[in-house]
Amino acid sequence: MSTGVVVRLEPKTYYNYIGGQWVEAVSGERYATTNPADTSQTIGSFQRSNRDDIRRAIQAAADAQPAWRRTPAPRRAEILFRTWDLLRARADEYASYITLETGKVFADAKGEVKRGTNVLEFAAGDGRRLKGETVPSELPKNFIYTVRRPVGVAGLITPWNFPLAIPLWKLAPALVCGNTVVMKPATNTPLCAIKLAELFAEAGLPGSVFNVVSGPGGVVGDELVNSPDVRAISFTGSTDVGRRLYAQAAQSLKRVQCEMGGKNAVVVLEDAPLDLAVEAILQGAYGFCGQRCTATSRVIVDRKVKKALVDRLLERVKAMRVGDPFASDTQMGPLASESQIEKVTEYIEIGKSEGAKLQVGGVRPSGAPYEKGYYITPAVFTDVRPEMRLAQDEIFGPVLAVMECDGMEDAIRMVDTSTYGFKASVYTGDFFKIMHFIDEVDVGMVHVNAPTLGGEVQAPFGGIKGSGVGIKEQGRAQVEFFTEEIVVYMDYTGAKRDARFI
Ligand code: NAP
Repeated sequence: MSTGVVVRLEPKTYYNYIGGQWVEAVSGERYATTNPADTSQTIGSFQRSNRDDIRRAIQAAADAQPAWRRTPAPRRAEILFRTWDLLRARADEYASYITLETGKVFADAKGEVKRGTNVLEFAAGDGRRLKGETVPSELPKNFIYTVRRPVGVAGLITPWNFPLAIPLWKLAPALVCGNTVVMKPATNTPLCAIKLAELFAEAGLPGSVFNVVSGPGGVVGDELVNSPDVRAISFTGSTDVGRRLYAQAAQSLKRVQCEMGGKNAVVVLEDAPLDLAVEAILQGAYGFCGQRCTATSRVIVDRKVKKALVDRLLERVKAMRVGDPFASDTQMGPLASESQIEKVTEYIEIGKSEGAKLQVGGVRPSGAPYEKGYYITPAVFTDVRPEMRLAQDEIFGPVLAVMECDGMEDAIRMVDTSTYGFKASVYTGDFFKIMHFIDEVDVGMVHVNAPTLGGEVQAPFGGIKGSGVGIKEQGRAQVEFFTEEIVVYMDYTGAKRDARFI
């Protein structure tokens, strides 16, 4: 059954947005992207930019800095509010771009747009909250206060899995804080970033304040990270790229935040409400084919309830509807790209060779509509041990690893064997166990009796260990990242002061 709100794109050429103009890459080179649900359908032709293109964008952003930073923050925020209005009015259109670029089920894509509008609303509110503080002085007639200033030109490097919400949750706070921006979207999903530039331009954002350049990360992303004119890098992507980029950016003493991979676990204790836990695991493991940084990829279940949980889980997984992401009854669409399907099928084989038991799924279905897309059926492995690659590596696909534990302490130990530290969830009704879990587990975000997914924009978002480094995103942290705190001392005694002793 179709949702009936599909935007059918006429494949056309899209350009970089630099200095308020739509421009071709200097090299004249382009590349095409295709719909992961039907690879015979071209989405568009995009600029394969090089270092010259990104340098032009950085220069445009640097030139626009003085005027934008002097624009009062509440005026900057008005543009965000207008963008918020426009995006809400076109939610289905923008959700369609997301589904076309990523294969994300349309209802999930609408959820992503909703997240984007929440981000805009919250960041716009910061326009009236960019406060400093006053600090008491130990001296008479001495006034100490702080103000928040923009960092300067911010480079935003984004992944393909949330092509609208992640660009927005970097862009909106960067802009309201007075920074000018150069964005490099993922090579697979430039359309949403380009459509965002259109939206902001329509809302009245001055040209050059927000620039978008498509092209390979190793070239245009690399140039952005190395440029001395870029003062902050906000990156979301894999831990491998983040680790390298973090070290590189340090050479020019940039402010950096890296939000990276995850290996999130749902812990199911002996007294857990099993039906609720199954619902959470299904959403977490198979929503958007497990291609969320917050996806559930491990279940750590007390061996006393393992059979009961796995039986219920398998029954539901076998009944899942995989298919056209625009159809309203589809639960899981295709994977997002060829490299994703290759990686996931490789991990199915790795899991089998490690001795884990593949209970269901991991198969590429045949016939229509599957043969033209990157489809795979949802997989469950049991008998997984913590040291297996299935339990350690971020697969980023619909592959769930079920492990057994002996009670709470064993479960926490198993969660923490991961080099990642993004999210963990615990299912139990025991208050004391819940509090102990929160105290001990080594992750950036904990969920209690809820899926590992999600996050609200007014709370900080991000991981620890291999999942995140630098100031978290969203919440009050977003202003901290996108501003410098300047400290002012004002002496109004009118007399000479001996400053040696303080
Ligand atoms: P990725 O391969 O690391 O790419 C992320 C971005 O970095 C892309 O725009 C990419 O460009 C660019 N890039 C690649 N090499 C670069 C380099 N040498 N210098 C500068 N930029 C470079 O990650 P992905 O496959 O797009 O995204 C999936 C990953 O993101 C997963 O690990 C997932 O967990 C993580 N993620 C984390 C969060 C979070 O909040 N923690 C949220 C979403 C996703 P190209 O596309 O051109 O390669």
